Amino acid sequence: MICIFGGTFDPVHFGHLRPALDVQQALGIEQVHLLPCRVPAHRQTPQLGAQQRLALLELAIAGETGLDIDARELRRDGPSYMVDTLTSLRQEHGERPLCLALGMDALAGLDRWHRWEEILTLCHLVVMQRPETHWPRDGLIAERLGPLRVVEPEALRRRAAGAVLTLPVTQLSISATHIRRLLADGRSARYLLPTAVLERIKQENWYAH
Ligand code: ATP
Repeated sequence: MICIFGGTFDPVHFGHLRPALDVQQALGIEQVHLLPCRVPAHRQTPQLGAQQRLALLELAIAGETGLDIDARELRRDGPSYMVDTLTSLRQEHGERPLCLALGMDALAGLDRWHRWEEILTLCHLVVMQRPETHWPRDGLIAERLGPLRVVEPEALRRRAAGAVLTLPVTQLSISATHIRRLLADGRSARYLLPTAVLERIKQENWYAH
């Protein structure tokens, strides 16, 4: 089973890393592939360039065998549409189960993604519970994805795509927005992200205004 975890990672922090590792352990898979996007299609342009965010990700996962990086979106021109990424992964992996891990906040906005309904024909969704977020009670997401929900990780292995699993992960109320704000204000972001990542940010004077 393959699992990717997409994001802007601007910058990567413990709120990405620990839940990604929780997913890797809960699904019993070798690795979760962190997949940075080049130009996000449905949110503002990242503050750091793609290569800078990639360099921070590399520092963040150094020595961790349960996580690795899939940089395919950084090599593709134009907006990073997840449906295109999943299509290319599907071509590589045939009928193997493919999972996309995303936070509950990202799930709530899934219906704004490019060709979003095709995504469920290409992969399963693994929804990570994020502090102060809940499964949508009504609306398109609740209506379309509710019937696809499963409770056991094992259910994801039985078919290639089309199931939605909610996973409890370590609750870390950390966001990249908060970290960028701290750094722009000249305040400390220590203990929110790996030391090596923070050190590189400081060396390069990234996110400072
Ligand atoms: P920003 O604050 O810039 O919006 P972010 O911290 O939400 O960034 P992203 O790179 O946009 O990080 O998120 C990538 C993925 O990681 C999304 O699916 C998001 O829901 C998830 N994620 C981010 N932070 C957490 C967290 N603290 N706990 C669980 N999931 C998280």
